[in-house]
Amino acid sequence: MKKHNFYAGPSILSEYTIKNTAAAVENFAGMELSLLEISHRSKEFVAVMDEAQALVKELLEIPAGYEVVFLGGGASLQFCMVPFNLLKKKAAYLDTGTWASKAIKEAKLFGEVDVVASSKDKNYTYIPKEYTVPEDEDYFHVTTNNTIYGTEIRKDLDVKVPLVADMSSDIFSRPVDVSKYDLIYAGAQKNLAPAGVTLVIVRTDALGKVDRPIPTMLNYKTHVDKGSMFNTPPVLPIYSALQTLKWYKDQGGIKAMEKKDKENAAILYDEIDRNKLFRGTVVPEDRSIMNVCFVMNDEYKELEADFNAFASSKGIVGIKGHRSVGGFRASLYNAMPKSSVEVLIAAMKEFEKQH
Ligand SMILES: *Cc1c(COP(=O)(O)O)cnc(C)c1O
Repeated sequence: MKKHNFYAGPSILSEYTIKNTAAAVENFAGMELSLLEISHRSKEFVAVMDEAQALVKELLEIPAGYEVVFLGGGASLQFCMVPFNLLKKKAAYLDTGTWASKAIKEAKLFGEVDVVASSKDKNYTYIPKEYTVPEDEDYFHVTTNNTIYGTEIRKDLDVKVPLVADMSSDIFSRPVDVSKYDLIYAGAQKNLAPAGVTLVIVRTDALGKVDRPIPTMLNYKTHVDKGSMFNTPPVLPIYSALQTLKWYKDQGGIKAMEKKDKENAAILYDEIDRNKLFRGTVVPEDRSIMNVCFVMNDEYKELEADFNAFASSKGIVGIKGHRSVGGFRASLYNAMPKSSVEVLIAAMKEFEKQH
């Protein structure tokens, strides 16, 4: 029996993704060769790349004028690639946690950065809402889901400048109005594929507007022009990503994912709110449906390690909270079956009865 996997990233993938990836590692596309040992320029792999890009466009209903590329370096490299390619004079950033702060730090290497609001004052337990984004900013960068703190912006914000978003941990969990964005990026290892590839969706006419020279590999245009084949792309995670995208389509697409994700999150938050041992760490209106953060109520604080051990005896893994929040974090990515969430809820109820 597979464990109930609540890891925050790398994290749960659909059985379909894992089985098909394992099969392709043995024998890829009937070539009698492993996916690990074939040319990325073989017609069989080029077909994988083309289909993956097309499915991203289809599932997110990406309008004309955008390209989808698969890059190395993780979401963290995007923290520098975004300002390198898009920041002419100044850009606005929303500081909603660790990942946003890291993005801000990199952007400062390239120009002026206006941090229009921050929720650091309350350990990032909410999403700031009272701020304005000046109209002369090159873009406004947001982190839509704060993986560590469990807050989420589940809508496409209305501002007067183009949006840029780090959607690493909630892409494909809701329909997105891509036309509001100049660029969206997402490290694969939360909702798409094994670690090693980053999905980037970019409006092509937003590129080529900065004066600074950009190293070839860090220039989005290089990868757009060569269809993510300028150099050897991360072949295996891209193949896995394609399997996940096919599985999303087969499950009914992004709206179906959103419905399931919301249901999973709702039953878990209900239990956190009901159970005398636990409380959520995030203000209710900003709670993430991807990463559910909770702690033990003060009078039960000493039971934290016991609950971790109790949960693991039930086959539950990955619920220990990030060190900057403590307590627990249950990550409920798209591949999370409701049955696993129910096992966690049952464990919480049983543990409550014992105390
Ligand atoms: C995990 C994560 C990152 C970092 O991703 P890497 O691929 O490890 O660089 C950045 N942003 C968010 C929102 C994340 O969840």
